[in-house]
Amino acid sequence: MTRLADISVFVTDLDSTLFLPDTTDPPWEFFYLLDSQLLEDCRWIVATGRSFEQVRKFSENWPQRPGTIISRERFIHFNRGDRFEADEEWNSRLRRRTQEVDSDWKELLPKLLRCLNKAELEPDNEHGHLIFASEAEAIEAEEFLKKMLKKGQQTLRNRVHLTLAPKEVGKGRCLKRLERTTSLESPEVICVGDSANDIDMLDGRYGYLSAAVANAEPIVREAVKSNDGILLENQAAYGVLELMKRWLQD
Ligand SMILES: [Mg+2]
Repeated sequence: MTRLADISVFVTDLDSTLFLPDTTDPPWEFFYLLDSQLLEDCRWIVATGRSFEQVRKFSENWPQRPGTIISRERFIHFNRGDRFEADEEWNSRLRRRTQEVDSDWKELLPKLLRCLNKAELEPDNEHGHLIFASEAEAIEAEEFLKKMLKKGQQTLRNRVHLTLAPKEVGKGRCLKRLERTTSLESPEVICVGDSANDIDMLDGRYGYLSAAVANAEPIVREAVKSNDGILLENQAAYGVLELMKRWLQD
C-alpha cells in the first residue's frame, strides 16, 4: 500500500468535505498544514461539482490557491500564478458533449418524473439538476434513471442533486487526463470526498489512494473501504485535517 509520506498530489472535494460547515472556505489550519515542511512540495488539486467561476472567486480569499481546479466534475483549469489557464482541448470536448447530453436530459425528464410520481419537480436553473427532499429519494430516482440511459450517458449524483451526464464526466476521469498532460502519477495521489460524484476518484479504478470523511454517504465509505482507503473519524473539514495530521506523522 502507498505510504502517505510518498504522496505528492492531494485532491480534495469542497462541499461537505473541505469547506467548514455553512461556508465556502477551508479552515485556516488546512493552509497552515499545506505549507508545513513535509507537505510543501505537495500539489493541491480541487475536484468539485461547483463551477470554475465560483471556485476561482472563493479562492480569492484563500491564502493559497489550488494548483489545478476540476469543476463541474468535468472541466480542467491550471493555476499559472497570476491567472488560471483552461485545458482547452479537453474542456471544449466536454462542453460539446455536455450540450448533447443536456438536450437528451430535457427530453427524458418528463418521462422520469412521471415514473417517480413527481411531475411537479423542476430542475434547478443553473445546471438543470433535480433536487430531491432526501438522499434516499435521490438514490431511488438515480436507479430509475440508470434504466433509461443511452450509450455515452451516465447518471451524476451529489447528495440530493441528480442529473444526466456524458460518460466522459468524472473527477477521476479528469485526474486521469492530468496524468497524460502533466507529470501526475497515480501511485502518488490521494483523494478525499464525501458523495457519489466523488466515487470515480475514490474507488481505486484509476489507482489513487483514497479517504472518506465521517459524514460521507455510506456508498462512498464502502467504495473507500474496498480500495483499502482511509475512513476518517471526523466530519468534513475536520476529517481533512485529521488526514493531514496522520500524513505528517507517517
Ligand atoms: Mg461533496
